[in-house]
Amino acid sequence: MKGLVIGGGVAGLRAALDIANAGFDIYLVERDYSIGGRSAQITKSYPDLTNIKDVLKPLMEEVYNHERITLLTNSEVLGLEGEAGNFKVKIEKKPRYVPDGESCEKCIEVCPVEIPNEFNERLDKRKAIFVPFSYAIPDGCVIDETNCLHFKDGSCSRCKEVCDGINFDQKAETIEIDVGSVVVATGFDPFDPNLRPELAYDKYDGVITSLELERILDEDGPTGGKIIINGKEPKSVVFAHCIGSRDKKVENPYCSRICCMYTAKEAYMLREKLPNAEISACYIDMRAFGKGCEEFYEEVQKKQVLYRRGVAAEVYSNGVNLVLRAEDTLLSEPYESAADMIVLAVGVEPKEGSSELAENLGIKMDEYGFFVEKNMYDPVETEKEGIFLAGCCQGPKDITDSILQGGAAAAKAIGLMGRHSN
Ligand SMILES: Cc1cc2nc3c(=O)[nH]c(=O)nc-3n(C[C@H](O)[C@H](O)[C@H](O)COP(=O)(O)OP(=O)(O)OC[C@H]3O[C@@H](n4cnc5c(N)ncnc54)[C@H](O)[C@@H]3O)c2cc1C
Ligand code: SF4
Ligand code: SF4
Repeated sequence: MKGLVIGGGVAGLRAALDIANAGFDIYLVERDYSIGGRSAQITKSYPDLTNIKDVLKPLMEEVYNHERITLLTNSEVLGLEGEAGNFKVKIEKKPRYVPDGESCEKCIEVCPVEIPNEFNERLDKRKAIFVPFSYAIPDGCVIDETNCLHFKDGSCSRCKEVCDGINFDQKAETIEIDVGSVVVATGFDPFDPNLRPELAYDKYDGVITSLELERILDEDGPTGGKIIINGKEPKSVVFAHCIGSRDKKVENPYCSRICCMYTAKEAYMLREKLPNAEISACYIDMRAFGKGCEEFYEEVQKKQVLYRRGVAAEVYSNGVNLVLRAEDTLLSEPYESAADMIVLAVGVEPKEGSSELAENLGIKMDEYGFFVEKNMYDPVETEKEGIFLAGCCQGPKDITDSILQGGAAAAKAIGLMGRHSN
């Protein structure tokens, strides 16, 4: 009997590996061009500053090379029928147009199309034929047909002229597979700060999101790890917590759980790069509940990172600096912090496309759009037998908890498939 995992972030990778290692064949369906998920955009992890690439890349390679795992990237689940132990799943597998591993990159040089690079949070550009990121798996180039001129109007085939491997005739195909169980691990999207226009994210280059800062901090990122805003190093930085979380106005009253700690980590890393800058954080209260997190938060404060209680209300420019206006929650009075750079600690939202997937699979979503577990004693099961949840698709959580839930979902899937195999 075979299994299916949907989503190739850390939760899905862990689930796929554990199920495969128990002796079941697994399909891993990933919507993007590469596995890795959001974690691949992050440089180091709190609380011990683990270099993410050092742990994520081997996990991705193990999945890719596992003889029991069939990886389908650029693919999506279209529908599911049947019952636990005997599901029929329809999958659309879209073409990449370039054979896996093909990466001399001459094609990239000749491609005339430049568009914002999503992996680097649109801080730089990529071509229509491109390598998704340095350690993407499958490796090599892919063609993004939405932006490629060959598919738009037939006006270009320059990449094909320098690379025989490229095949524009590849077509999307729909395949049908039989599986006994499904693990859903489709992750999250960060909150869109434009939904709080008073924070002027779109107005000033100095207002950035925490995920943009992750890319800027990365030596492989768009600035080579240099902290540059408006052409120069910022002398002062303010972090604004709880953007798009604990906020009824944007209909996200929940806490996103990860942003207090990832902000502490980003402040620590920023201090290493900007030893003389003023760094402060505007926070409602500190949620440092994971192992080693409270200790790390204390370390961060020793690095001259000033924490002041407040709810971020508005950002404006005074002509010299950006200014964050906040409401001090202890003194019940407003205050202002001027800075060259303001980092919005954006919260966790359900992944785009979750409602379609819920409908296709016949599972439920909560009022915010996260998939719903059966109950608190069965936190990876759904009400539909044979379909399990792992990672941020069920609710906000960090990498360790996502991996834990991936392992727990795998154990349930293995048990179910074992029972149905006998
Ligand atoms: C700014 C920032 C900093 C962070 N820093 C840290 C940190 O230091 N330490 C830490 O522990 N955590 C950190 N996190 C949290 C971490 O990113 C998440 O815990 C982790 O990515 C969750 O993994 P996941 O597998 O659940 O989801 P994801 O990483 O979102 O992966 C989900 C995967 O599913 C795929 N997918 C989505 N929909 C479909 C579909 N319909 N079909 C097929 N595939 C689909 C996606 O393309 C993606 O590859 C940070 C998050 C942010 C935003
Ligand atoms: S055919 Fe498309 S991908 Fe190839 S060079 Fe032209 S625009 Fe770029
Ligand atoms: S983890 Fe911290 S920053 Fe994130 S929503 Fe919760 S309290 Fe706010």
